[in-house]
Amino acid sequence: MISALTRFATIICLAFVCAFIVFNNWGEVWGIATGIFILAIPLLYTYINLARLRRHVLEDSVENMSLPSGYWEEIFFRLQRLVRNLKQRIRTTEQQHDHFIEAFQASPNGIVMLDGDDQIEWCNSIAEHFFGLSFRRDVMQRINFLIRRPEFVQYLNKKIFDEPLLLERMGQDGSLSLMLQAFPFGQKRHLLLVQDVTDLQKADAMRRDFVANVSHEMRTPITVLMGFLETVQSLDLEKSQQDQYFDMMMSQAKRMKSLVEDLLTLANLEANTLPASLNVIKIETLMALLKNDAEALSHGSHALSFTSLTPNNLLGDEKEVLSAFSNLVSNAIRYTPDVGSVEVKWQMNSNGQGEFSVTDTGPGIASEHLSRLTERFYRVDRSRSRDTGGTGLGLAIVKHISNRHQAQLLIESTPGKGSTFMLRFPKERISA
Ligand code: ADP
Repeated sequence: MISALTRFATIICLAFVCAFIVFNNWGEVWGIATGIFILAIPLLYTYINLARLRRHVLEDSVENMSLPSGYWEEIFFRLQRLVRNLKQRIRTTEQQHDHFIEAFQASPNGIVMLDGDDQIEWCNSIAEHFFGLSFRRDVMQRINFLIRRPEFVQYLNKKIFDEPLLLERMGQDGSLSLMLQAFPFGQKRHLLLVQDVTDLQKADAMRRDFVANVSHEMRTPITVLMGFLETVQSLDLEKSQQDQYFDMMMSQAKRMKSLVEDLLTLANLEANTLPASLNVIKIETLMALLKNDAEALSHGSHALSFTSLTPNNLLGDEKEVLSAFSNLVSNAIRYTPDVGSVEVKWQMNSNGQGEFSVTDTGPGIASEHLSRLTERFYRVDRSRSRDTGGTGLGLAIVKHISNRHQAQLLIESTPGKGSTFMLRFPKERISA
């Protein structure tokens, strides 16, 4: 501002000197000077305000400039309001943009935005994790150079996005199953939405296995039953032979019945997500029932012992607990050859937890099977299980009941020596 005034003063002085040289008369010079001065006042006013405006524009301080008076006041005021509004709008747009980014980041699904050439414009951190991408590194890279799976490249090239695409064995360790679908938007742009369907795929595979297993388990007794029926129908059998066939049919029908019963028990347990009730279960009564059933099943072939080392009872659902305990006892008797022994015990440990254990001197189980024993239809000794009426669901039922009572199922086994199956109940489930 000062330099501008100095320049202006210098020009005025020079003008005076020139005018004096030309007119050689101070009177005229003063007259002309006065006229020019009167004309120059508004020019000077305009110049000063323009200079101020220029400075504020360059310093980006238009919002804070003080308003001049007169004609320029309105210009300054309107300009100031315009800049304020524009800045406010930019701030709002930036905030909205940030909110969108935050929302996309919070999404449990992977999101990738592609431009018309399938180059990555933006992706969220879930998509980075799914595809091993890095937004900073890979921005504006063609996605098919980074995800090279042929089915994905084909999907993008086809440009028909009505159906989603399933990509299996994805992620760093190949454990992810991803469902991906592209949605066109804007000008030739695409939004890729990616969902982790690993658990769904696993559940689906389990459901398929389960249906296949149930069908297989049912088909065998039905086929045998039909074979017997045809024989009885077509052959003229003697009464004793007929009775023998009827017995065999009955045993197949019983096998189907136990399978259906076990399936229903499992379905009921799975449907009930609440913890088991806290009714007092008298262990003495339970032990007596178990003993009766065990003796009937063993036919005196095993040395059986039932011991309660504590008067403490259990808090839970009596029907469920009895079902779990009798599954363990019947397994021990069914898998232990004749002359072996089965020891059933109820005791408290030093932590105040209640332990129900069944120890047998049966064939034992190799360690690689132990973690899978509670899977439905998992059998170590398939033929022995079938021959003794096993459904392959017993330990799955025990595991469910144990979970519903916050108990732990512990299995210790030595091949050739025997096994111990123990249910350890927390102190909250023990009644004094
Ligand atoms: P199953 O009806 O076939 O007995 P379970 O679920 O009760 O089914 O048991 C799963 C498998 O675990 C059985 O098929 C059997 O091979 C093995 N198993 C269970 N209990 C014992 C045991 N006490 N001794 C040896 N093997 C056992």
